[in-house]
Amino acid sequence: MAGQPRSYKEDLVGVFGYPVAENPTCVMQQAAFDACGLRWRYLTIEVRPEQLADAMRGLRAFNMRGINLTIPHKVAVIPHLDRLSPEAQLIGAVNTVVAQEGELIGYNTDGKGFLRSVREDAGVDPRGKRVVFLGAGGAARAMAVEMALAGASHIVIVNRTAARGKELVHHLREKTGVAAEYLSWQDEYTVPPDVDILINATSIGLFPNVAEMPRVAMSSIRDDLLVCDVIPNPPRTAFLTAAERRGARTLDGLGMLVYQGAIAFQMWTGVEPPISVMRRALEEVFAS
Ligand code: NDP
Repeated sequence: MAGQPRSYKEDLVGVFGYPVAENPTCVMQQAAFDACGLRWRYLTIEVRPEQLADAMRGLRAFNMRGINLTIPHKVAVIPHLDRLSPEAQLIGAVNTVVAQEGELIGYNTDGKGFLRSVREDAGVDPRGKRVVFLGAGGAARAMAVEMALAGASHIVIVNRTAARGKELVHHLREKTGVAAEYLSWQDEYTVPPDVDILINATSIGLFPNVAEMPRVAMSSIRDDLLVCDVIPNPPRTAFLTAAERRGARTLDGLGMLVYQGAIAFQMWTGVEPPISVMRRALEEVFAS
């Protein structure tokens, strides 16, 4: 039967990682594309470190609209891009690539996702705040740079491995000018009374080790402190539950995961992201 010419072509995005099988981002992004009536497909693609260069050539060859990068590709991808956004340059890592007019542009939406969650979910403006990060890995780096750019007055990095903690402090001072210091994390960390925001940016408490908690003297958690956790699975970590028992306000890692994806969605499609659809999709994944 004669009719309108049909297009079966889909716009492709996805994630490169290794391992990547358990990454739930596809569920959140596909739910968003479908809710917006977009003929887009999010692919979860296993890329070994030694094949990243080929994978990036494939991205160009398939005319993909972009890609997310996860472990171990966030830094290694940089030489394969045409340019970096200013914040990706400051952070030194990329989690989202946008293909635009023949160029691959690297962004980092992790820290921005956290910032948006602090502002919108917790209702807190980081300007002038004293902030403590537990951990100095990739997530801490992205979040700390964005907190510094958002006007945090003082940042402390508490980390087990001194070299990593000191390097991040040096990086923050050098690149953002924020007042920052390193604190060794050997015993329980006691939160000083002038701290406004405490963030667990380690992997402690991530499924399946849900009973584990970062070593913090819970007696130093006050009811006027905002306690945040980067762990999205489970969103209600043992650490946040214990902090709530002390009367503190808490912010879980699900919001950060939703917003970092929502920012990528908007950059790729130009469409306003359906935040509640994305959040619900992830909540269902983590509840199952
Ligand atoms: P990295 O491996 O880069 O860093 C891990 C950090 O945790 C390091 O500082 C490490 O300390 C510290 N750490 C791990 N185990 C312990 C321990 N037993 N005691 C003390 N310190 C410990 O990981 P990422 O920064 O990439 O990721 C961290 C977490 O953030 C992950 O669980 C990830 O799922 C989550 N994440 C959440 C996001 C979200 O959107 N909600 C986005 C990105 C990440 P040391 O330097 O001493 O080894």
